[in-house]
Amino acid sequence: MHQKLPIEIDPFRLAKSGLILEGELPLKVMRRLSEVLHDDHGSVHVKMNFDVDKVLGTPYVHGEFTASLSLICERCSEPMQYKVNVQCSLAMVSNERKIESLAEQYEPWVIDNDNPVILSSIVEDELILAIPLIPKHDHSCLPAEAWFAGEEIEEGVEKKVSPFAVLAALKSKD
Ligand SMILES: [Zn+2]
Repeated sequence: MHQKLPIEIDPFRLAKSGLILEGELPLKVMRRLSEVLHDDHGSVHVKMNFDVDKVLGTPYVHGEFTASLSLICERCSEPMQYKVNVQCSLAMVSNERKIESLAEQYEPWVIDNDNPVILSSIVEDELILAIPLIPKHDHSCLPAEAWFAGEEIEEGVEKKVSPFAVLAALKSKD
């Protein structure tokens, strides 16, 4: 069920109708995310399944967001692709106080006014949370020489002429 994703949504109505939204969202429309990316080309595959929890009567959305994000490796400073597949279940609550009554499988999604919700902002929040604090390549990405830098320094110390050798040389001149 592919369609063009709407920019704004009314999540409560979507939940009541039990709708599924699925489509591609360009990464560059998400400004805060773009700022932490090395390159904001490409898109995220969005699938949002809106429904009402049969037991709790709570409207919710189950989201699945799949993307390959371009980040900078903290170890070698080269670009790397980081694959994310975020799955989240967000229960819509109209105020903070209702959060406590939620079942454990849901994260609260507080919607405290009737304004339409920008769909990309939900996706953006989840993707930002999925980015590792210190991105690193899966493989050991530094060249082998870098690991031996420490040994080279020690060799340099050993080659220094000891003060006793200098003294000995002075004495022999007498
Ligand atoms: Zn690296």
